[in-house]
Amino acid sequence: MHIHTEAFILHKRKFQDYDYFVTLLTRSHGKITAICKGSRKITSKYHGQLEIFNLNQINLYKSPRNFIITESKIKKNYSKLKIDFKSTQTLLKLSEILFYTIPEEYPLFYELFDLIEKHLYFLEEYPEKSALIKEAFKIKICQKNGILSDLNFCSHCENKLNPEKKFYFCFENNGLICDKCIQNKSPKKEISLNTVKLLKFFYLNPLNEIIKLSFLARDLEEIQNILNTIIENHIHKKLHSYEMNG
Ligand SMILES: [Zn+2]
Repeated sequence: MHIHTEAFILHKRKFQDYDYFVTLLTRSHGKITAICKGSRKITSKYHGQLEIFNLNQINLYKSPRNFIITESKIKKNYSKLKIDFKSTQTLLKLSEILFYTIPEEYPLFYELFDLIEKHLYFLEEYPEKSALIKEAFKIKICQKNGILSDLNFCSHCENKLNPEKKFYFCFENNGLICDKCIQNKSPKKEISLNTVKLLKFFYLNPLNEIIKLSFLARDLEEIQNILNTIIENHIHKKLHSYEMNG
């Protein structure tokens, strides 16, 4: 079987002496891991092609055991997002989250593909808003993969949450929890009303609305901590790039 498609590079790891195993999110077939033969040789035609979040035009061949990349051409490399350490770190984190959270046979891959394209576009166009865009991206990934519960309801008893009451976030259910259910649930974390509003806004609104938000650094940091925790709980591992910064 031959596949000719566009693909985002999500992850790569060394394989044998000269090859990489490359994980792609393809526009036509979703998440695919393929061997890119000879791609670690200095003279390789794939030099510079397999950077994280490159959007490439790719030809794949499915052998009985593996997918093999037979041709790759960069369509867009988002070079503006890779010029300094901080923005490169941001991309690494997001690619790591996608790599670990997207299941192999994920049916709504085309929505994720559009989501990535849109968020990378906004990160390039609005670098001053990158902190907001990054957390919005994480929320949308969690939403699409069913990692985060609906924020209008208690994630335990499923009753509508009363906006006048205190809010808690429950890491067992990955969602908000009402004050009645709070007693027998742990671990939990009380979160501010502002953070809940911000979380809900991210959850429900498109990026062009999200970037207009004014917010407190403290609230965004709280969201970042919650999202990092639920993602790490979901994939049962620590995300390496978090050790560098947020
Ligand atoms: Zn409840």
